[in-house]
Amino acid sequence: KFIALEGGEGVGKSTQTRLLADALRARGIEVVVTREPGGTPGAEIIRGLLLGLDGEGWNPRAEALLFAAARSDHVERLIRPALSRGQWVICDRFLDSSRAYQGGGSGLSDEDIGELHRIGSQGLLPDLTLLLEAPPAVVEARLSARDTGGSDRIGGREPAYHARVAQAFAQFAESEPARFARIDAAGSADQAHAAVLSALSPLLSA
Ligand code: C5P
Repeated sequence: KFIALEGGEGVGKSTQTRLLADALRARGIEVVVTREPGGTPGAEIIRGLLLGLDGEGWNPRAEALLFAAARSDHVERLIRPALSRGQWVICDRFLDSSRAYQGGGSGLSDEDIGELHRIGSQGLLPDLTLLLEAPPAVVEARLSARDTGGSDRIGGREPAYHARVAQAFAQFAESEPARFARIDAAGSADQAHAAVLSALSPLLSA
């Protein structure tokens, strides 16, 4: 199975990815944990290009192409091989981040992003996409507590950009309820983890 965790910065995707992987391993499932952008040597180099450009950053189309290129390498070299070995893949961000950030945030059309995904990754979709959601005030508090100086983030984005991203994610979840589960991530990590496990129960019994 292929599970993606999605949501804006500071909603706890990395923590939930780790907790989920541990829970699956405890059930004897072989799990590959990975993240975007990155996950393979080439895609990690592209991650450096995406996060390393100061000032205005990349133009939105170039940014979308770089994400699609990183994803292509990640899918071909890591995700598909693991899935065909029968392992589960848990991925911190995937296509829906491109649709939400480069689409909802930066204004590219969902069709264009879908086309890049078709070319780059043959349209691979997760079996389940866990959308972690928390109010902006909760997210802000977590991000300032983390205080990495923003070196692991694409900077220069207004709060309105992040609001469009969150709205886009919510809209995708509404229009594809079979592929998405919305997780309330405003509380503790344990509470969100319990919600993740209950969203996953149909896959675990299948
Ligand atoms: O997942 P993480 O928060 O580490 O992502 C790193 C940076 O890349 C963040 O600033 C995130 O908003 C950004 N990003 C993006 N578009 C994507 C995926 C991530 O702008 N498709």
